[in-house]
Amino acid sequence: MNEPTTGEGWPRERILAQLAALQAHDLPAHGGRTLAYVYDSGLAEADAVGLEALAMFAASNGLDPTAFPSLLTMENDLVGRAGRLLDAPDGFVGTVTSGGTESVLLAILAARGSRPEVTAPSMVLPTTAHAAFHKAAHYFGVRRVLVDVDPVTYRADPDAMAHAIDETTVLLVASAPSYAHGVVDPVPQIAAAAAARGVRCHVDACIGGWVLPFLDDAPPWSFAVDGVTSISVDLHKYAYTPKGASLLLHREPGLRRAQYFASADWPGYTMLNSTVQSTKSGGPLAAAWAVVHHIGDDGYRRLVREARDATLALADAIDAMPALSVVARPDTTLLTVATDGTCDVFTLADEMLARGWFVQPQMTYRSMPPTLHVTLSAATAPSVPDFLVALHDAVAAAQQAGPVAVAPELAAMTAALDPTTLDDTAFDTLLQVAGLAGADGRLALPERMAPVNALLDVAPPAVREALLLAFLDRLSRPA
Ligand SMILES: *Cc1c(COP(=O)(O)O)cnc(C)c1O
Repeated sequence: MNEPTTGEGWPRERILAQLAALQAHDLPAHGGRTLAYVYDSGLAEADAVGLEALAMFAASNGLDPTAFPSLLTMENDLVGRAGRLLDAPDGFVGTVTSGGTESVLLAILAARGSRPEVTAPSMVLPTTAHAAFHKAAHYFGVRRVLVDVDPVTYRADPDAMAHAIDETTVLLVASAPSYAHGVVDPVPQIAAAAAARGVRCHVDACIGGWVLPFLDDAPPWSFAVDGVTSISVDLHKYAYTPKGASLLLHREPGLRRAQYFASADWPGYTMLNSTVQSTKSGGPLAAAWAVVHHIGDDGYRRLVREARDATLALADAIDAMPALSVVARPDTTLLTVATDGTCDVFTLADEMLARGWFVQPQMTYRSMPPTLHVTLSAATAPSVPDFLVALHDAVAAAQQAGPVAVAPELAAMTAALDPTTLDDTAFDTLLQVAGLAGADGRLALPERMAPVNALLDVAPPAVREALLLAFLDRLSRPA
């Protein structure tokens, strides 16, 4: 008797049609008009070879490098290649992880684990450090010591960071560049302050680590700087590889030791892990290996030049617009834009989306104004003139509408909320008030996000977090 070769559920055609229908509601991952979340080289062949590799290794398991030596070979090859780009000295080591957040988590785990005598460890962070560091603090119980950045340049303040070091400090952090403002922190001074106290220094180059090596005018940021002990670099950003690949590099093997985990304390296989995941797909690693080799150093140099030139051209054009200003001269390919009093960033983001462009609103934080974040990939470069046409129109429309206003009593109520005292019913009411739920209590995202964003913008970060967590909780429920 022949075994069936197909499943007994829906046929392939129906599945693919349904997937395409679902995907039609997503932001486009290609075409260069989604200026956050996705990175597009614009190279069709690079995308194709990445997807083939992803499929070839989707079922391979990185759990055991002796069972799948192909994955170990590709991992060591990518780490080696990255080490050359990052000026790593002889003897450096690294790990491929699932993403920037995992690379950051592991850097902090390793730093904490190397100092077991410190019972209440802490790390010194510039206020512009990525939220992944706050997640690591939350997961691993490492206290955050937040240090304000320079109010004009948005770069970390190395003297203030040096003063914040005490006997509990296990790590100092610098960004190259920061996600929110696109500027590279003064890495040499921060690393020197760390080294002087025998503390590790992590450079978060998740978004810049595959760009800075190809720039002629990059500030110092790599292992060439004394005192830098680890660096994170995402492959799924500017190496243009499919999602699920990042790198964490350490200057020497001893620094990596506490990142590793083994357990023989059960009756099954000895679990031996370099990352948070145990079973892990070989797909993203193989895809990264394929794309990195396909594009090649010369290819990356060209893609970086295109994205960088586009960024600077856009920065100049935006600075020439009376209503807009570039918050900090970009060090790489990220642009941060603020508005004057005639319009607001949240309305502007809505107006841009209506014109087919996604730019990411960033909320008020400490003394930093709300802004728009723009990540430029190579695929966006040819469309800079189209972007500017849309931006001029969007500014005009946003000025016509006027800055979005939050009713003063609503703003006062939001600012006064203590999220720790609220129960589920209160959150349901608040989500409704915030415009995130319909009258029946079910979530209904409004067409225009500006009123919601403006309300969140006046809320303290803890209230923002609580409201959005309540929102996520209600989103993530089976139909
Ligand atoms: C993107 C990013 C991260 C986090 O990376 P994910 O891949 O989203 O987990 C960390 N730091 C910086 C500077 C980033 O840009």
